[in-house]
Formats: sequence, C-alpha cells, structure tokens
Amino acid sequence: MSRAAESTPDPADDATASTDATYVGVHTGTDTLLAAASAQPTLGTGFSVHATHVRERAAYLATTIGALQFTPFDSSAGEAQVFAAVWHQIRPQLDGAAAELIDHVQRFDTPRIVLAEQHAPTTTLWERRQSNDGTGAWLPTAARQAVTDRAREAGIPVVRVAAPERRDDCHQCGTTGSVVGGELSCPDESCSVDRVARGQNAAVRLARRGAHE
Ligand SMILES: [Zn+2]
Repeated sequence: MSRAAESTPDPADDATASTDATYVGVHTGTDTLLAAASAQPTLGTGFSVHATHVRERAAYLATTIGALQFTPFDSSAGEAQVFAAVWHQIRPQLDGAAAELIDHVQRFDTPRIVLAEQHAPTTTLWERRQSNDGTGAWLPTAARQAVTDRAREAGIPVVRVAAPERRDDCHQCGTTGSVVGGELSCPDESCSVDRVARGQNAAVRLARRGAHE
C-alpha cells in the first residue's frame, strides 16, 4: 500500500473528513435502469433499479405506434395521443427511481453524483418512437435527466465525466471481463473481483473518475 493511501483520513477518526466529498457513480442503462456505487464499495452498499417495467411500456409504445403507421389514414394525432398516454406512465416511474436513488445517495456524507457525459446527441422518446431499436435507446438519457433534476432539488452536486471507453473492464484491475446474464466476470485470477453486476461495475468506475478529476 502506498504512503498516500495510508494517510487517507478515516471518516470515523477524523472530524475534518466530513468536508470531503463522497463520489457516487451513477450508471444508467437499458437493463439496469440505475446503478449507484461509491469509489470504494463495500458489500451491500450498492444500489440498483431494474428497467423491466419502463422497458415494457416503451416496447408497448413502439408496437402501437408501428401499428398505427400501417393504417391507410393519417395517424399522427393518434400517435401523439398514444405517446402522451405512455409517457404519462413512464415519467413517474423514472422520477420514482431517481428519488429512490437520491435517498440512497444521501446516506453518504457530502455526496457528489458522478454521471457519464452524453456522447450521442440527445434524442427524445418522441423522436425515437418509430424505430424498433429505439425502444430502450432513449432510456439511459431520460434516466440521467431524472437523476440530474432530483439531485438539483436535493442540493447534491452532479459531476459529469467522460464515459469509460471499454464498457466492461473490471473496476478493480482494469482487465476486460466477460458478460453473462448482466454480470461481469473478471478473468484475472489474482483480482479480488470474481463476479460483479455490470451496472455496479460501471458505477464504481464512474465514481473513481469523478474522484480523480
Ligand atoms: Zn479484476
């Protein structure tokens, strides 16, 4: 262990440590809607919300809009109505998940949320409504926005960092892992990580980036 690591103040012993921020990485995705973890995760401190229910609504939207577009008459008004109805269901789910996440993050002293910067131009659910591949593609963006809004309300600073280039590198040793069923396996036998939820792994990496920038 390096000298720098040894001199890191222990929050329990050092009163000044309460002024140090805890960086909490928040990964958003289409399988795991939200995953949160600190830079030094310990067992049981991770948080995640699955996207199943939101994805079901989004898939319903794509199917219905697709059916409407096969009709011989102008269906734009109907599309807008379906969209509004489904968005009305999805929006509270996103907000509710973001609120749960903020509750979790507030357990840390002086939290700072770390989100990945947006790469692609933001497309809305409405713009994506016609594409089959788009049912989930807007979801991480919408989830990031919901987290940003809720964090602002709660007065928690949000830091944006560049997204890691290789998505599935082990957060502990940096070796590219293999993904099975939403879990990442680290192939490095000397690494302390055997298997980790993919969203959690991504969240830890974001937290570490935030802490080092
Ligand atoms: Zn590893």
